[in-house]
Amino acid sequence: MNAKFSLLGTGGWIPTPGRETTCAILSRPEALFIFDAGTGLSRLLEERFRPELEPGREVHLFLTHYHLDHVAGLVYLPAMFKGRKVSLHAPAAAITGVEPLQVISSIVSRPFNPQPLSDFPVDLSIEPLGEGEHLIAGTSVRVRKQIHPDPSVAYRVDGMLAFVTDTASDPGTVEFSRGVSLLVHEAWIDGIEEEDPATEQIAREAYTAHASARQCADMAAAAGVGELILCHLIPLRPASYHEQMLASARAIFPRTRILEDGEVIEI
Ligand SMILES: [Zn+2]
Ligand SMILES: [Zn+2]
Repeated sequence: MNAKFSLLGTGGWIPTPGRETTCAILSRPEALFIFDAGTGLSRLLEERFRPELEPGREVHLFLTHYHLDHVAGLVYLPAMFKGRKVSLHAPAAAITGVEPLQVISSIVSRPFNPQPLSDFPVDLSIEPLGEGEHLIAGTSVRVRKQIHPDPSVAYRVDGMLAFVTDTASDPGTVEFSRGVSLLVHEAWIDGIEEEDPATEQIAREAYTAHASARQCADMAAAAGVGELILCHLIPLRPASYHEQMLASARAIFPRTRILEDGEVIEI
C-alpha cells in the first residue's frame, strides 16, 4: 500500500521553535488520517503540506486523549477544513470515563475559543471508538487502552503503522504493534536515569505516565517492527539529550530514528 507518514509535531508538552506538540499524518490516496491535534496540526497550513488539504479525500482525525498538547490544535480546524467533512474519532467513555462530545465541546467553547464547536464551519462528526478493531475508510484501525494518568489509546492502522504515545511502557504494546512497518512510540527520557541513585527518582516519576527510549527499543525488537520512530520528545532538554536517547535506542534496535517536524517517510 502506498502511504506517506509525517510527524507534524515531534514534541510533547511545550512547543519549541523546532518541535511543535503531537500531531501526525498518514496520507493515502483514499484518505487522510491525522493522529492528535497538538500545535503541530498548524503545519498542515505550510506550503509543503498544501496538497494534503486538497478536497476529494476522506479526512479522519484520531485523538489519543485530551491533554492539551494533543488537542490545542482542534481550534485550527476551520482554517484548513472549512466546508469539509471531518470525522473526529476519540476514545469512548468506556475507556476514558468522559464522553467525547462533551469533552471536545468544552475544549472548543467560549471563553477559550470565540467560536464554539457547534458553530464551526466544518462538517465535524464526533465518533467514539471502543477498544478493538474498526473499519475506517476501508482500512483496519485497531484501538487499545494504555497506561497514562488520564487514559490514552494507541492506534494501529493495518500493517502500516502503530501510533503509541502518552503511555508508560506496556508489554501489551508488543503484541499490538507486532510486525508493523512503522512503530511510532513516545520516549520521554533516555532510561539511563534508572541506573543512577541520583536520578532514579526522575525515572520513577516519568514511568508513571511515559516510556524511555530504551524501553521503546526493547518493544520494537520484541515486536519485530520495520522501523521505530521516537516521538513526544521532552522540550526542556537540549538536542544532545535527544541524540543520546537515539543512540541508546539504536544500541538495542538499530532501525530507530528521530524525525524533524514535517519530515516525510514513505511506507
Ligand atoms: Zn502529551
Ligand atoms: Zn498526556
